[in-house]
Amino acid sequence: MHSAPPRLRGPPPPEHNVLEPGNFGVNPGNYGQFTDDTKQTLAISKSLLKCGRFDSMDAIHALIEEYDRDPRFYGPTSGEVFTRIKTGCAPLEAARTLFEEKGLGRTNGSVMRGVPPIGICYPPESVRACSLAASRITHFHPVACEASAVFNTVISCLLRGESLARARDRAIASCEIAEVRARIAAPEDYPLRPSMDALDTLHASLSLALMSDSFQDAVTGAVMLGGDTDTIAALSGALKGAEYGIEALPDAWLRNIEGIDAVISCAEACG
Ligand SMILES: [Mg+2]
Repeated sequence: MHSAPPRLRGPPPPEHNVLEPGNFGVNPGNYGQFTDDTKQTLAISKSLLKCGRFDSMDAIHALIEEYDRDPRFYGPTSGEVFTRIKTGCAPLEAARTLFEEKGLGRTNGSVMRGVPPIGICYPPESVRACSLAASRITHFHPVACEASAVFNTVISCLLRGESLARARDRAIASCEIAEVRARIAAPEDYPLRPSMDALDTLHASLSLALMSDSFQDAVTGAVMLGGDTDTIAALSGALKGAEYGIEALPDAWLRNIEGIDAVISCAEACG
């Protein structure tokens, strides 16, 4: 008598080959085209480079400038915060009032845009405070702020030579919200939900990075989860990129990414 096979963990197998050119999803774009995750990441990176540190006012203006250029794909929280600012709300008050009035601000916008540049620029000892401030300019909900801090701590540690397991342990140790800490301490105990929620996004991206032995597996796994694929793939890829370095990225993927030279030179300038 045979025992039952172990239950497979992680994303289901692809129904089509996501490595081939093609348009999938609800907002199909061109092959290699990036979306709001990368646009906002570049905006934050340029602000960091210009100011020499994270400056909330400059970062807000950089994000609004990018939003005005191309508002497609932006989530509900960022869009409403920018609208409030453009109609007269004080820039550093808009996210807080949105949270206090409507409870909004737990979506994943601040997680996705801040991870690479803030994790690159700030060492583990100071990345948390900067991450909280960076989230609060649009996403004031404490869970979104904490998810940003956890993610940026992991990236900061990875880029400074620590293993993914050790980086996660340090993020757990500095995490101050029990709901977030529980999810990252035992990610296998929770189903992967590829939603726009900041904690679901952190959990799915970190789980894929922990389960995958390569950059490709983490990113394609994120795509195959469905849901907010561009964001979860961007974050899973950021983790594996920080863990392995750019050499681990497939040449064919790099060649087909729009504006890749500008992205690489921006990352090098931040480092
Ligand atoms: Mg997205």
